[in-house]
Amino acid sequence: MSKFRNFKMVDYVIYGRGSFNQLDEILSPLRKGESPMIFLVDHFFAKGAPYMEEPLVNKVPVRDKDKIIFADVTYEPKTTYVDAIAHDLKEEFGTVGGIIGIGGGSTMDLAKAVSLMMTNPGSSADYQGWDLVKVPGVYKAGIPTLSGTGAEVSRTTVLTGPTRKLGMNSDYTPFNQIVLDPILTANAPVNQRFYTGMDCYIHCIESLQGTYLNEFSKSYGEKALELCREIFLEKDNWDNESDDKLMMASYAGGMSIAYSQVGVAHAVSYGLSYLLGTKHGVGCCIVMDKIEEFYPEGVAQFKHMVEKNGVEIPQGICKGLTEDQFDAMINVSLGLKPLWENALGKNWEKIMTKEKLRALYDKL
Ligand code: NAD
Ligand code: ZN
Repeated sequence: MSKFRNFKMVDYVIYGRGSFNQLDEILSPLRKGESPMIFLVDHFFAKGAPYMEEPLVNKVPVRDKDKIIFADVTYEPKTTYVDAIAHDLKEEFGTVGGIIGIGGGSTMDLAKAVSLMMTNPGSSADYQGWDLVKVPGVYKAGIPTLSGTGAEVSRTTVLTGPTRKLGMNSDYTPFNQIVLDPILTANAPVNQRFYTGMDCYIHCIESLQGTYLNEFSKSYGEKALELCREIFLEKDNWDNESDDKLMMASYAGGMSIAYSQVGVAHAVSYGLSYLLGTKHGVGCCIVMDKIEEFYPEGVAQFKHMVEKNGVEIPQGICKGLTEDQFDAMINVSLGLKPLWENALGKNWEKIMTKEKLRALYDKL
């Protein structure tokens, strides 16, 4: 592997309250012939949730043969779901002009993956891993309606496949365009907003406390952390400024891990999500709540944020699991070598033994 990561970034970024209204203008020059734009919209918006006092779906710039598909994100994206959407689009249209994902991290990941599967043969499960995607996908744009995952800037799309939960990490995965409009996040429920926001906070702690840290990651991570503190600790009420800041924190937090890695909370939470289907944001919070040994200051501050924002972190989720189930989680987690190495250094295997991880899962 090369010494320095040469990473592909998003091509175009637009930021600002109301920037979603510019989507038609952005897409117009990209429209070619008959190929439609496909808007993959988080199913939350199917029930008429508003954007600037009108149902968001009425503001999606649908033209000619364009199509809106509501993404069912009850569960985090599966390879089977990606394959089914791509298959149906190929049957209906042959090819499409672009995939526009409007929603949280799950919808954005789906959009990235469907874009890639419009041009790459086989199943998305064949591409779970690093640099397995060999053909660029169709044009793709990401428009977050929740802030925190950093999926808008990352080079991966996390999918649950037949045998593992792993991303399609590649240079073809990042979006061609992202539209960062904080108004889109205004109606998020308090708990969901907090869990996804904490994903960003945890990215920062794990990146800044990690052994992979360099000045590039640090610059973004420190800024994102500062914004998270302002929003979740210093302010007494949630307002427009909070949405504006959290959207930029998510972006910067994502940029921070682009050049480093996440750490203990993520590594352990992947076991939970694999076995129990625990969602990413809340899963990271459940683990973060119990790992003061690894991130003493970060965890203390996390607990203050939980208290100040009046949010519940689920407890006792590993109660009553069998030894086989604990083993399954431990194996998934310990398989994430770069995360552990970033968190604990080259000798991580001596520190995070199976027994130690078993004891940690027991506490969750
Ligand atoms: P999510 O996309 O799973 O959505 C959570 C819930 O919030 C859903 O019910 C959704 O319908 C709802 N929702 C979305 N926007 C809303 C809004 N504005 N108002 C009200 N409800 C809204 O949540 P998330 O935390 O944004 O994303 C988690 C997903 O992101 C996981 O699948 C995880 O694997 C993925 N992820 C990807 C990356 C990456 O780099 N690609 C990084 C971190 C996480
Ligand atoms: Zn995360």
